[in-house]
Formats: sequence, structure tokens, C-alpha cells
Amino acid sequence: MVKKYVISRGHGKYIRGAADILDEVNEAGRVVERVDVILKEAYDGDGYTYYDNTSRDQTTNLRAITNFHNSKVRDLDISVHFNAGQRNIGTGVEVLHYGSHTALAAKLSKSMAIALGLRDRGPKVRKDLYILKNMEKPTLLLEVCFVSHMEDAKAYHKNFEALCQAIAKFIANYLGYTKQKGTQSESTTKKVQGAIKTLVDNLNYYDAPRWDKPSGTVKKGTVLTVVGRKKVDGAYQYKTVSGTYVTAADKYVAFTKK
Ligand SMILES: [Zn+2]
Repeated sequence: MVKKYVISRGHGKYIRGAADILDEVNEAGRVVERVDVILKEAYDGDGYTYYDNTSRDQTTNLRAITNFHNSKVRDLDISVHFNAGQRNIGTGVEVLHYGSHTALAAKLSKSMAIALGLRDRGPKVRKDLYILKNMEKPTLLLEVCFVSHMEDAKAYHKNFEALCQAIAKFIANYLGYTKQKGTQSESTTKKVQGAIKTLVDNLNYYDAPRWDKPSGTVKKGTVLTVVGRKKVDGAYQYKTVSGTYVTAADKYVAFTKK
């Protein structure tokens, strides 16, 4: 039987988390949703998501989340949060755990940091957090990045897909999922002729169609000749004439047909 995960959004609809440049609850919800889809579609994974939309006070909220996790047969608990601090001071990725999962937390934190292109603050032990204390399976609490830092917000928006792919890959490795057969071949590279201009700085490129391990970054305003378009784990990338791949999201690149 396939091992399962529970992944939940931190805080709740009425018990909001941190809000500054990013809104923690909204973004954590997006991450939970996307990671779950990747695990079920790109991998042979299975699990549960949880979003608390009813609690009106923090105690009820923490109990509702924890009770949901503990009510499921699963092997891994993931709680998605965002960090907050003084405007434009704190930056980067952290993964919190109760004490015995340093290696796991370090591994996940590192791969999230690489995907986002942000500082890896690494694993942190937290004995005071209710959910880490009360969830009964290995639990990792993700602090994706800082809602209060402009660069974190930019990096998060720009690399959202890469981030979710990195989290999904970590969970898949831990629970023994494999990539669905046909995921790669099902999406052949469609011939496209044109050029893209990058709309943001430090846009990741990859030397193969993938979302992790970027090969480098390109500056804003760079024009690249495009020869193809390919769906990579559910989201499109352009193939450039030099054989590299970049996101095809029109938020980050402007495409002109030749
Ligand atoms: Zn939080």
C-alpha cells in the first residue's frame, strides 16, 4: 500500500497568519494545493490536504489542524507557513521540527532554498510549537520565505513552480513514490519559433526540462531565441536555441512569435 502524507496550510481563514508583502495564509494554501496535485499527478503519491476554514480562535485552530493530521493513516506530516520579520530584514528558508528530524529538515530546507534562489537558514528545533509537539508522525513545519521581505516575495512568485516541485520531490523520496510512467514522454516538446524577453531579474534556467537544480540565472531584459515549448511536471517551459529551459509563465517572460 502506498504511504500517505498529510499537508496542511498553517493558520486559518479566520485566524490569519502573518501578512505584509505576502499574505501567509493565502500563499501557504497555494503551496499546499500545488504540492498535492504534483504528488498525485506527476508521482504515484497519495495523501490529504487540510485548510482550516472555521476556527475563530488560535487554540481551536491549532487543535483542528493537529487533529486532522492525527486522524489519518499517514507517514509524514507537513505544515506550510511563511516567516515574518521587520520589513526587508529577515530573508530565506527554514524548516522547523521537534528535535529528531534534523537531517530531513536540513535536506528539505536546502532544496527549497535552491529552488527559490534564497538563503538557506536550515533546520531549527522548536519545542514550543503546538503542532510539532502533538502531531504523531515525523512533522516538518516549512517557513517558505519571509512575507516581509521584497526579495523573498519576488523570488517566491518567480519560482513558485520550482518550489512546489522541490517540496513534492522531497516528499516523494521520503515516502517512496516514483514519477508516473509517461509523465515525460506524454509531454513532447512542441515546436515553437520566436523569442522571449525576460521580465524579471535572476530568472532561473535549466540545462534540461526540470524545475529543480537551476543551471544559472538570466538578467531582466535578456532576449532568448525559443525553439520549443514543453510541459514539465504540469507547467510549461520554453526550450531555447542553446538547449536550455526557462519558465513559460507570461508573468516572467514575454513571448513574440517569429
Ligand atoms: Zn505561520
